Amino acid sequence: MNDDPLRALALEIRACTACPLHRSARQAVPGEGSAESGIFFLGEAPGYNEDVQGRPFVGAAGQLLDELLEGIGLERSKVFITNVVRHRPPENRDPLPDEVTACDVWLNRHLEILRPRVIVTLGRHAMYKFFPGESISRIHGKVRRTPEGLAIFPMYHPAAALHQPALRTALVADMAALALFLQATPAAKAAVEDKPAVQTTLFSD
Ligand code: URA
Repeated sequence: MNDDPLRALALEIRACTACPLHRSARQAVPGEGSAESGIFFLGEAPGYNEDVQGRPFVGAAGQLLDELLEGIGLERSKVFITNVVRHRPPENRDPLPDEVTACDVWLNRHLEILRPRVIVTLGRHAMYKFFPGESISRIHGKVRRTPEGLAIFPMYHPAAALHQPALRTALVADMAALALFLQATPAAKAAVEDKPAVQTTLFSD
């Protein structure tokens, strides 16, 4: 009997054969981290290094993610990191809609266990899970609520920023906005929410 729900879930994910990706991948990459900061990062798919190590974001994009976290004083162990698909697609191609749908069950189970304060989507595949058809250049760096009330904070994918300095600058700015949101004062939250601040008093002095 395994009484650590994250560990138990990882075992289930490692045994998953719900889509064809498990045939070409070396192993599943369930995700890792904790609920300590309340931040849940959702990337696209494991790449070569992740497939070899069985851990998310351990290659060059992962190194940039670690640096971005360090920039706001957060240790990687305090956030949770996973992907919309848990097995590496062949040749790092984009995940197919059926593969993403087959993996939904694991996203939902992780969210049930971790109950994050904010889900940070990295790149458009992760953003489409919550806002299909949206443009990442339009909505990155702001918290948006789903109809169910989940707080989603879209960001560019760190891999895209490795070769595009403008995206790297945007990632740094978005991380700072995320840190502000997490400070949790109503004013700080309103500053990064994608809607006008709710007026709580009628008069101010
Ligand atoms: N890119 C992703 O989207 N996820 C990883 O785990 C690594 C690189």
